Amino acid sequence: MKLLVVEDEAKTGEYLRQGLSEAGFVVDWARDGLDGHHLAMTVEHDLIILDVMLPDVDGWRIVRALREAGKTTPVLFLSARATVEDRVKGLELGADDYLVKPFAFTELLARVHTLLRRGRATASLEPLQVADLVLDVVRRRVSRGGQRIALTSKEFALLELLMRRRGEVLPRSLIASQVWDMNFDSDTNVIDVAIRRLRAKVDDGHAPKLIQTVRGMGYVLELPDAG
Ligand code: CA
Repeated sequence: MKLLVVEDEAKTGEYLRQGLSEAGFVVDWARDGLDGHHLAMTVEHDLIILDVMLPDVDGWRIVRALREAGKTTPVLFLSARATVEDRVKGLELGADDYLVKPFAFTELLARVHTLLRRGRATASLEPLQVADLVLDVVRRRVSRGGQRIALTSKEFALLELLMRRRGEVLPRSLIASQVWDMNFDSDTNVIDVAIRRLRAKVDDGHAPKLIQTVRGMGYVLELPDAG
């Protein structure tokens, strides 16, 4: 899952980026309000962690623009200001939760998980299954034919994307934007290498082969046509 962190303080931003990456999320970090506003409006994220006090476009304006554009991405506000008025204003503008700095990372992580659960249909937290390949989103486990498969966090994110959008040919650019962060250079063959590794773990020694290359277009996970 992909999160956007908008935070101008380098130390807090880096702390969030690192902690959330270690927790298995793909993290885009915008270091100012302008960049944050742009990313929030143009890139799909599962959740946005938004600092209120930003030097150019503040958090209030970003969440207002987001909601006016009809985007329902959950927003968690972060602020050093703790007045009730601020809290109410944030929630009225369409933020989903509000955390006062300084905060414990474990509390932030708990709030993130709650918002993600609330933001999705319960069905989408059900394990994903294609043939005998099963991905348990909640426990972050993958198995094929009942045998557990160990994946890196990137491989897990890649497989989750392919399984959620099974049958759909995903271009490398889309895979790059959903599984890697915004600084990722999609000209590299990192995606092909990651797919090859994932295939070796998921498809080698199993039938049918589920991950397929569509030449010149990208990758798709589906059951091959019968016959
Ligand atoms: Ca700030």
